[in-house]
Amino acid sequence: MSVKQEIEVLLPPEVAYDELARYSALLAAAGLRPGEADFVHLRKRSIDARGRAPQVRLRADIYQTPPPRDLFGPWFQYPSVERATRSVLIVGAGPAGLFAALRAIELGIKPIVLERGKDVRTRRRDLAALNKEHLVNPDSNYCFGEGGAGTYSDGKLYTRSTKRGDVQRILRLLVQHGATPDILVDAHPHIGTNKLPYVVQALRDSVRAAGGEVHFDTRVDDLILENNHLRGVVTATGAALEADAVILATGHSARDIYELLHRRGVLIEAKPFALGVRVEHPQELIDQAQYRRRDRGPLPAASYALVHQTQWQNRQRGVFSFCMCPGGFIVPAATAPGEVVVNGMSPSRRDSRFANSGIVTAIELEDMDLRRHGALAGLRLQQEIEQRACQLAGNTQLAPAQRLGDFLKAKISPELLETSYQPGLVSVPMDKVLGAGLAERLRQGFRNFGQKIPGYATNAAQIVGVESRTSSPVRIPRDRETLQHPEVRGLFPCGEGAGYAGGIVSAAMDGERCAEAAFAAIGAK
Ligand SMILES: Cc1cc2nc3c(=O)[nH]c(=O)nc-3n(C[C@H](O)[C@H](O)[C@H](O)COP(=O)(O)OP(=O)(O)OC[C@H]3O[C@@H](n4cnc5c(N)ncnc54)[C@H](O)[C@@H]3O)c2cc1C
Repeated sequence: MSVKQEIEVLLPPEVAYDELARYSALLAAAGLRPGEADFVHLRKRSIDARGRAPQVRLRADIYQTPPPRDLFGPWFQYPSVERATRSVLIVGAGPAGLFAALRAIELGIKPIVLERGKDVRTRRRDLAALNKEHLVNPDSNYCFGEGGAGTYSDGKLYTRSTKRGDVQRILRLLVQHGATPDILVDAHPHIGTNKLPYVVQALRDSVRAAGGEVHFDTRVDDLILENNHLRGVVTATGAALEADAVILATGHSARDIYELLHRRGVLIEAKPFALGVRVEHPQELIDQAQYRRRDRGPLPAASYALVHQTQWQNRQRGVFSFCMCPGGFIVPAATAPGEVVVNGMSPSRRDSRFANSGIVTAIELEDMDLRRHGALAGLRLQQEIEQRACQLAGNTQLAPAQRLGDFLKAKISPELLETSYQPGLVSVPMDKVLGAGLAERLRQGFRNFGQKIPGYATNAAQIVGVESRTSSPVRIPRDRETLQHPEVRGLFPCGEGAGYAGGIVSAAMDGERCAEAAFAAIGAK
């Protein structure tokens, strides 16, 4: 048996991020000298920035004998499902769809993944056209294509949904497919947009190698419904595909899917979501405020998480930071021409000069026109604001923006700051884009955040509109036990688009759960 000593230490960043210095410090903390340990296994790393100077907290296991062989395992094996007699159609190759496919394979079911967008490589060209020529391809953009909305994202893998599945299992699967093992150690792990496409491609290769199918440029346009039983789907080219079950993992931006369900009489519901703007600061300002040192040295680009309760016309609503991207870029996340939507991403090194974050406020059911639009009320509100943002900024992918200090004083910005948003910005009073209520709530939030982070709510920052795709404005209901739609057998609503996940890891976990539920319903012979 291997002998291990578990230790926890607080080290200065210069020691914690230097491999040799860290090794010596960990051994010294365990009362050992260099050479007296067989192996040091770093288990957790987090930054403690509460004191005067930030420190790095490390947890490690020190082995004086060889460590167990499965220390980094177990690695996952995929049996061949080429000749499986059961198959599942998975609509959407985002994290939910891809992890559903891998889990289906483990359970002996053949997955057939249908994705409207292109493979990760070809998708890049459409992103370039979006950034440089302002062309939005409704099937291939920052939300649609292989890997889903998660591919060209920040790749933050932190989730609060720890009760909904095995987070470590998802992280290990990502490492097995090429993600850095650091994600198993860091308290707030992230992969980075430069590395995510390779991981996504490796996930697809695993599905295909086991005999599963992945089809790109294959948009699902209709359902094969018989007596409230979903037998299969019809693609945009008219191909009818049938299987034993259908996992619908189309993400929060597949508006045509919500419209289709509504039209075909499949029950869907309006759901609360959040909407606001993206705020961009110099990363240096955030580093100095959070770390309280002149430069951040070896520390990663600093982030923040902010929340404030606001009140407007007797309605209390939270305003909070969402998907903060230190050292990142603001990207155009529209999925159709005629709308402007922004989101954020960052490379693995998080080394851009900018820090950006969504600052959004909750949109509850009572904030929507349910009478007029029913289940699609949240979606219509989203659309209306995104289209207004586009019109006010000149009907391209230029985004409306205002310096934050000016927004707080309701003053037009005569000039804007440099930005990481490639298509470019236009000075627009954001009240016009958001409407009075939303703007007022955000103002209250920003004022509060300015008290928490020095320099935050000033003209050193600017806000860019609109951050509207935070989560799905529609829920596709499902039974708690069987995960099937309550009225349509064979339909497994899955992931963020169905309203059961928010983020890469929780969507992946939900994909796995849906594959297990499909297995329970159809078996695998
Ligand atoms: C720019 C950006 C940055 C983000 N950053 C992070 C982050 O750092 N961390 C994090 O956890 N989350 C992040 N997110 C959110 C995260 O990407 C999503 O929560 C996650 O991808 C949801 O997974 P999903 O599989 O449920 O849906 P999606 O990833 O949206 O995948 C749905 C897939 O279905 C396909 N599809 C849609 N309609 C059809 C159809 N009719 N037929 C066939 N296919 C269809 C789409 O093309 C898409 O590929 C970010 C999102 C964006 C846009």
